[in-house]
Amino acid sequence: MLTTRFAPSPTGYLHIGGLRTALYSYLYARANNGKFVLRIEDTDLKRNSEEATVAIREAFDWCGLDYDGEVTYQSKRFDVYAEYVKKLLDEGKAYKCYMTKEELDELRATQEANKQRPKYDGRYRDFTGTPPEGIDPVIRIKAPLRGEIKFKDGIKGDVKFNVEDILDDFIIARSDGTPTYNFTVVIDDALMGITHVIRGDDHLSNTPKQIVLYDALGFSVPEFFHVAMINGEDGKKLSKRHGATDVMEYKKMGYLPEALLNFLVRLGWSHGDDEIFSMEDMLKFFDPHDINKSSSTYNAQKLDWLNAHYIKTFPYERLAKDMKFFGVDFDSLKKGELLLDILRERSKTLVDIANGALSIINAPTEYDQKAYDKFITPESLEILSKFKDILTLNLDASGYETITKEFLEQNGLKLKDLAQALRVSLTGNSVSPSIFEVLEVIGSEEIKKRIDAILNKK
Ligand code: GLU
Repeated sequence: MLTTRFAPSPTGYLHIGGLRTALYSYLYARANNGKFVLRIEDTDLKRNSEEATVAIREAFDWCGLDYDGEVTYQSKRFDVYAEYVKKLLDEGKAYKCYMTKEELDELRATQEANKQRPKYDGRYRDFTGTPPEGIDPVIRIKAPLRGEIKFKDGIKGDVKFNVEDILDDFIIARSDGTPTYNFTVVIDDALMGITHVIRGDDHLSNTPKQIVLYDALGFSVPEFFHVAMINGEDGKKLSKRHGATDVMEYKKMGYLPEALLNFLVRLGWSHGDDEIFSMEDMLKFFDPHDINKSSSTYNAQKLDWLNAHYIKTFPYERLAKDMKFFGVDFDSLKKGELLLDILRERSKTLVDIANGALSIINAPTEYDQKAYDKFITPESLEILSKFKDILTLNLDASGYETITKEFLEQNGLKLKDLAQALRVSLTGNSVSPSIFEVLEVIGSEEIKKRIDAILNKK
């Protein structure tokens, strides 16, 4: 069965680059009735694996991704790795190396002086003598000494490494018995039945080592897809300098998970000129073989644009539900749906909606100084005071529009003579959606109160 995996090293939060490879792996598995599994690579015991999984699970939940079966923790599998180390030792495919740190440093220094690539020189590869005392050996794999390691990468095509340029008898278990990264990945990918490995191309140089291990262990090699990195707009690897990297930060900034996934799927993959992809579309069209070879550029405006698109088009119920996280309960408002509708038209994020909503729901406690100075004048206060008198009933937006137009006509005024001063008195500043809809949301009684407040302001 087609099986993919996401195998993060726990860093405390899920990085958006990680979410992209997780999404690619997820889509490929789900679209092919395969399996998508989660493995936490927490062999570095100093880090807290449980916390990291909670963070990853939370991000997956928010994005609506799920995985099959139980989470695998590498930290709980040391006995499995030890068993395979022993097997390789027994079969003569790996060996104990007693080289001391001093000897290794000396070798490094000589190689450096001779401008050679630092590599282990194989001195214990065929060692049959008596081991030196008091040294806990590391275990090294007997890697091929020459030739090429080739594989077909689903994205990069034929990839070839010259053994002499890249390999040595690398360590598979440290002197304290703990297995190394390349070893645990291979054991787990093989035992978990992973058929397709989709991961960042920062792992490309690990792949020949892993292939050596697959061969030594007699496991079949999965198909690899090495995805090029995401860069910031300055061409450098994406980091916090360019924007948030923690997936859950995006939630806090008011992005919808659908927009984030849409953004991420397009970073490195395309389907014609299409920009908008629902989960259904992604499942229909995504194929990891079509992922771009070159790196992609993080583009904050694009994410905003996508987010604005989803904010405009999602059903009221869905947005109202998400808005609760930002402290606004539209369902509890008399004109909640209207308020959300007028705000979503002009908002890039849910935070924009929340700010807009709160400035309409709550009477201003202070006024934006610039707007106040510009629009609140003796003349405009007089107009507001007169306008107040025509507010008797609660009307809908077009009702307010009709009575306002009559009012302006009777007093020889233009809308601009009233609208900005009215906005400032109702919301505290001069930016708000269409004034008549704002009037409908607030209602006549409250409008009058807010006008009184500005009239009485000392
Ligand atoms: N644990 C590795 C990482 O987080 C990924 C390993 C893999 O995908 O092969 O970078």
